[in-house]
Amino acid sequence: MAAPTIDTEVTYPAGTVTSEGTVVHVEPVGGDRWAVFLDRTAAHPVDTAWPDQPADRVTLSTPDAQYDGVEVRVAGVQDGTVHVGDDLPVRTGTEGWVFAVAHVVHADPPALGDRATVTVDRGFRTALSVAHSACHLAALALDAVLADRWSKPVPEDSLGRPAFDSLAIVRSLIGEYRSEDVYRIGKSLRKKGFDPGAFDDADGIADRVTGLLRAWTATGGPIHVVAEDSRLSARRQWRCELPDGVAAIPCGGTHPDALSDLVDPTVAISVEDVPGARVVTMTTTLTPR
Ligand SMILES: [Zn+2]
Repeated sequence: MAAPTIDTEVTYPAGTVTSEGTVVHVEPVGGDRWAVFLDRTAAHPVDTAWPDQPADRVTLSTPDAQYDGVEVRVAGVQDGTVHVGDDLPVRTGTEGWVFAVAHVVHADPPALGDRATVTVDRGFRTALSVAHSACHLAALALDAVLADRWSKPVPEDSLGRPAFDSLAIVRSLIGEYRSEDVYRIGKSLRKKGFDPGAFDDADGIADRVTGLLRAWTATGGPIHVVAEDSRLSARRQWRCELPDGVAAIPCGGTHPDALSDLVDPTVAISVEDVPGARVVTMTTTLTPR
């Protein structure tokens, strides 16, 4: 069999929640499930390189069938073999692979060449998108609030502050109107010159981060996802203009159109001391609109 051509064009980085496409390949993935590939999709999968944002909730419609509860996964093709989801052994963007969005259905798959409409659950997408932008902004605000806690020069974020977030982050998780970032302050961060007592007043830090976040979102300016092209594995960057400069962070997720879409961002910080390190958890919440 010829190697399937399933290099999906993705439209979700621009904020799209519906798309029309053509079925270009179907692949059995076991358990009476099929991965359906389209030439174009609005469905956001969990990115293997940036796994922080959950997949969209999606319905797929063809002239003959409607598939609810579609699982949206990243697939990779190498030497004509399709690897879907957990069977994909490499990260998105790995050289020598073509990456595509798999729409996994639990019923007889559509036929090659069928027209297919992707419909994304708009409420769930919105809740994740605003939380994702708030997560990026909170990281930059935290960097700003901690800027005077460094005694040595370290790499800077896009606003020119010491990049605490990217130097200390352990994991980041986006939920509905909520994000959680976990940081570890251990020996290597202290060696880089970071003040181990910086979070002694965690509530005071959280209040200052919240204040800065609200000042930024009050400007209401546009948010953009800039992509090098429309492939799933394209490099993409989240950007928005803040009073402090242009904020830019590499990102594979989805985002709202404007800072004004983020309502009442609020940050809480908790601190736990473990052997050899301090673990800081920053939770950012929004009011649903
Ligand atoms: Zn992101």
